[in-house]
Amino acid sequence: QELYDNGLKKTNQGFGARLNAFFAQFRSVDENFFDELEDLLIESDVGFETSEELIDQLKDEAKLQNVKSHDELKKLIVQKLVEIYDQNGDADAEKLTYNEGKTNVYLFVGVNGAGKTTTIGKLAQRFKQEGKKVVLVAADTFRAGAVEQLKEWGKRTETEVVTGPVQADPASVVYDGVKHGLEEDADYVLVDTAGRLQNKQNLMKELEKIERTIKKLVPDQPCETLLVLDGSTGQNALLQAKDFDKTTKLTGLVLTKLDGSSKGGVILAIRNEMKLPVKLVGLGEKAEDLADFDAASYAVGLFH
Ligand code: GDP
Repeated sequence: QELYDNGLKKTNQGFGARLNAFFAQFRSVDENFFDELEDLLIESDVGFETSEELIDQLKDEAKLQNVKSHDELKKLIVQKLVEIYDQNGDADAEKLTYNEGKTNVYLFVGVNGAGKTTTIGKLAQRFKQEGKKVVLVAADTFRAGAVEQLKEWGKRTETEVVTGPVQADPASVVYDGVKHGLEEDADYVLVDTAGRLQNKQNLMKELEKIERTIKKLVPDQPCETLLVLDGSTGQNALLQAKDFDKTTKLTGLVLTKLDGSSKGGVILAIRNEMKLPVKLVGLGEKAEDLADFDAASYAVGLFH
């Protein structure tokens, strides 16, 4: 919780400070107030569609409950933010899938620099601490540095890393890696992939092939296909999510760099428009800077 609060401080300072400053300006809760609040939400990357929905609901609810004071309204906003977030009513949606006694394959996708390799390193550390056996697969064979970086995480977390020759077919590295994980009875196989945007079509084909390859070995895997997004890219993150979702069947999101200049609102936009749960948040560059997402503390934190 402390990590969470500290890590999210900047994001909350951004979005939250704007909300708080906004409240300070207004004496009464009228039409103008709601219009301005909607603008603020859109500016904070909540997105047009989601902001409009939220404001409509807030207006109705404020009238219904005869809300007049700022504090009451803040409480209502927090409640609505959490509701938007938890709309599916599935409390387990945020939990990472884990099938006991099986080799759980997680596929990580996302553009270069989003934080895939770092997230895999952090997760390897978490799973190792839980006493699990983990295998990492370096399928970003396009960028030489990517393999080295994953190997570095492997060393740090004492986790085996399966690699292939330079410029190898990523799917063949994935084949070797998953096969190895199965032979070793690993609890987790975490697959890193390339994220070059310059050639999107080839990238998407490559990801499809990787998914097929995994399914050939284990039909019910990958049990998680996680899209890693840089939270500070704002609305662009939403566009990326839509792009990747077309090719790979995403099961959830990892939002990284929430310790940075993220405006935070994009979490709501993606959740509302894509119906994808945020499973993890990145709150720094170190191995321990990874947390499960919690909608309530996120929303409440906005007003701290
Ligand atoms: P990839 O290309 O998607 O594998 O991205 P990397 O894992 O290489 O991350 C790109 C950069 O972002 C690296 O310098 C990471 O240290 C940094 N990074 C990743 N996650 C976070 C995070 O949650 N917070 C911060 N501050 N930096 C991060």
